[in-house]
Amino acid sequence: MDFQLSEDHITTQKWVHEFAEKEIRPVAAQYDETEEFPWPVIKKAAEIGLYSLEFYMESVAQDPTGLVLPIAMEETCWGCAGIALGIFGTGLPLSALAYSGTPDQIMKWAPQMFGTPNEPRVASLCVTEPNAGSDVSALRTSARRDGDEWVLNGQKIFATNGGQAKVHIVVATVDPNLGHRGQAAFIVGPDTPGLRPGKKEKKLGIRASDTSEILLEECRVPLDNVVGGPEKLEAKMEKARSSSTKQSAALKAFEMTRPSVAAQAVGIARAAFEFATQYAKERNTFGRPIIEHEGVAFKLADMAMEIDAARLLTYRAAWLARNGTFEHAEGSMSKLKAGETAVWVTEQAVQILGGYGYIKDFPVEKWYRDAKIYTIFEGTSEIQRIVISRALARN
Ligand SMILES: Cc1cc2nc3c(=O)[nH]c(=O)nc-3n(C[C@H](O)[C@H](O)[C@H](O)COP(=O)(O)OP(=O)(O)OC[C@H]3O[C@@H](n4cnc5c(N)ncnc54)[C@H](O)[C@@H]3O)c2cc1C
Repeated sequence: MDFQLSEDHITTQKWVHEFAEKEIRPVAAQYDETEEFPWPVIKKAAEIGLYSLEFYMESVAQDPTGLVLPIAMEETCWGCAGIALGIFGTGLPLSALAYSGTPDQIMKWAPQMFGTPNEPRVASLCVTEPNAGSDVSALRTSARRDGDEWVLNGQKIFATNGGQAKVHIVVATVDPNLGHRGQAAFIVGPDTPGLRPGKKEKKLGIRASDTSEILLEECRVPLDNVVGGPEKLEAKMEKARSSSTKQSAALKAFEMTRPSVAAQAVGIARAAFEFATQYAKERNTFGRPIIEHEGVAFKLADMAMEIDAARLLTYRAAWLARNGTFEHAEGSMSKLKAGETAVWVTEQAVQILGGYGYIKDFPVEKWYRDAKIYTIFEGTSEIQRIVISRALARN
């Protein structure tokens, strides 16, 4: 077991860190305040190839360790998690497509998700509905076959990139009697009539990220737009009717992307830890820097240890996602640990800054707000615990 990052990893880390330091950090507070979508930053990321399909196809897909993506995610989120979600949010629908799509679908739709360096686009994965978040089997959005087309009807909420995306991957129910086994993912291409963004959410944190409602009203897509193709869907439904099959494709894609989400949380935690450490060296009370007060120093020690533990679980899960399978819910463990760590570490950072931690002149309160989503989206902490405990019962 080798704990060293390779030369390539370190090069990626430096490259992304430099971008985060130069192009993301300086504008993070501004986007947090205005809640605008950070297109100018995404364009810059596209110009250097960080936001591109090639980054996923070459740097990420050909990396045998699986660590390139979490390394890039951590550095970007060190800059600003909201902006980072603009840059990496397309990775989620891309994973759903890459995981279950046919080669033809990947060739056709993946480039459309990203656009070009001059005209970048983003994509969105729409699963959640007003009455179906953790309980994916409760989805009501329907997909009805009508000749050579699917007709989608329903309401999606909380879709990251939803209001900005050109390509939406929409999970809908084909056979409501089969629960999640009766669902499939559908590709809705640019400007398809019947799909329109609804309300854009105003949020506690990650405010640069677009989180929108997506409304589907008699939205027609070609038969071939079901992810995996119509024949595979038919076979899957047939099997589901006669026996119980495993998780849906959407749930599997979530499990595989969890180490990347964990890495985002590690990035926020590290940002807050670094800032708090520096502050503790410079702020004096009772005649000495506060880092020399044990009450502060021990907090920093625990923060360093928790971040390291979260990152190690993340790297292990990322490596397993590429080289093995999650036998013991290692993906969920990484997401749970990193999400909870980010919330805890950022809260400690606010405390270490005292009153200055609570005001907007300092970035720490933003990191505290940004961190919270990591215990909620892509499976809440409670859902991760369910996945982990089920793996314990199984093994
Ligand atoms: C900013 C943001 C971005 C998002 N991006 C996307 C996206 O891109 N695409 C998408 O499809 N969705 C997205 N989501 C939705 C997100 O994944 C869901 O909000 C999340 O899965 C929780 O679902 P819910 O909100 O319906 O909560 P609920 O499922 O209603 O859960 C409410 C509470 O009950 C707990 N709970 C539920 N069931 C159990 C149980 N069996 N045992 C114990 N506790 C339980 C939960 O942990 C939670 O604490 C996003 C959400 C936000 C806020």
